[in-house]
Amino acid sequence: MSDGEPADVDRTEGSGPADSADLTDEEWRDRLTDEQYRVLRESGTEARFSGEFVDHEADGTYRCAACGTVLFDSATKYESGCGWPAFYAAEDGSVTTTLDTSHGMRRTEVRCANCDSHLGHVFDDGPEPTGKRFCINSVAMAFDDDA
Ligand SMILES: [Zn+2]
Repeated sequence: MSDGEPADVDRTEGSGPADSADLTDEEWRDRLTDEQYRVLRESGTEARFSGEFVDHEADGTYRCAACGTVLFDSATKYESGCGWPAFYAAEDGSVTTTLDTSHGMRRTEVRCANCDSHLGHVFDDGPEPTGKRFCINSVAMAFDDDA
């Protein structure tokens, strides 16, 4: 959808939750690594057990790698064995879910509610109290230590 106009790129240092929803494709490519772009903006999936947060057990919060919105608390992270970071609950209002029928499967896609970036999928085989398994790509998240 680019109209060829030079993008008015804001080079403000540091990134809090920004108006990321308005970024152009070019700005996204600028802001994200190739792998992040592939996952977040093209609904890709990182290789199983490849992500830095699969076995990550520190206390803190996981944010959207694209816009900084807090998505998950480490207290809800658990060992699912699925090969990606898994959580049984997302922060209230932080994500949206939609039916994804790609690849011949019926899955529920999870996106950031703020910037609409693809994060992963959610399944109904998680532990109590929610019964949900949010299966999220590591590269879609940034981690903030509680310290
Ligand atoms: Zn986001």
